[in-house]
Amino acid sequence: MEKKRHQPRFAKKSLGQNFLVDKNAIAKIVSSVPEGTPLLLEIGPGRGALSTELFRRAEKFCVLEMDDIFAENIGATLFIHGSRQHHVFHSDALEFDWDRIWQESGSAPDTPLVVAANLPYNVATEILFRLLDLRARIPLMVLMFQKEVALRLAAEPGSRTYGIISVAAQNHYEVRLQQVLKPGAFRPSPKVDSAVLELERRASPVVALAPAEEKEFLSLVRAAFAHRRKTLENSLSMELPRLGWVKTPGKEPLRAALAAAEIAGIRRAETLGIAEFGRLYLTLKRHCGELPE
Ligand code: SAM
Repeated sequence: MEKKRHQPRFAKKSLGQNFLVDKNAIAKIVSSVPEGTPLLLEIGPGRGALSTELFRRAEKFCVLEMDDIFAENIGATLFIHGSRQHHVFHSDALEFDWDRIWQESGSAPDTPLVVAANLPYNVATEILFRLLDLRARIPLMVLMFQKEVALRLAAEPGSRTYGIISVAAQNHYEVRLQQVLKPGAFRPSPKVDSAVLELERRASPVVALAPAEEKEFLSLVRAAFAHRRKTLENSLSMELPRLGWVKTPGKEPLRAALAAAEIAGIRRAETLGIAEFGRLYLTLKRHCGELPE
């Protein structure tokens, strides 16, 4: 019986429904959204724990919810709390046409969008990658992840948790750890700790690339991290031919690129800063010709 009280029937595990009940945590998340934000989106409002406060920070407030019942009810919940200007999008964030936010809220296409969310953990990184694709339009995100994922996103070079998602996010955003939350901050309680990150877009990316190049760049970073314990030279010499990047057999083109980028091949991927990955990408591109998509 005790268990039932903490795990209400209507929380759907498949939709990562862990509702935030810690008032201090809610206040902290809300206060990191600047007052007067022109356009604010909350992903997964659920029963409105954050939404009923977040809407006050925005001129136009949008929510995107996949759950049928929550999508149906959140408009009325917001209205009861005094909101008169909100837009409810009933959709899966992974299928969503993001342009609708600007179109249906009547916002000019260049209106910057702030995103806040206690993300469903099962699809949190996938949603983040969708948001990173929209980076030109999103100056700030305040997002809750399971702690382990948050630490990977915020990790610095040299740490064991530094990897592809750290590079993908930090290339464009400054990532700050805002708060860590114990399972008791939620109902029902998740099995893991959680953490809120503030991602503030940099004035310019560490490595500035065209969108198609960005994809290649991230596949190089993925290849470098594919064998974390091996040296960069060994990991890349195993992975790059598989990606079709190195057409000449042997390690020579790779060695030449590493030397030109002034990066010692005996280093491990986790020691490389984002700018070094950028240098490596550009020199590899020069030494190996045009890279395939
Ligand atoms: N914001 C509420 C809170 O903090 O109490 C609920 C957060 S709960 C962790 C995640 C929310 O995301 C739920 O409302 C869930 O229904 C919704 N959700 C899950 N998967 C989703 C998806 N793919 N797209 C949009 N919303 C989703």
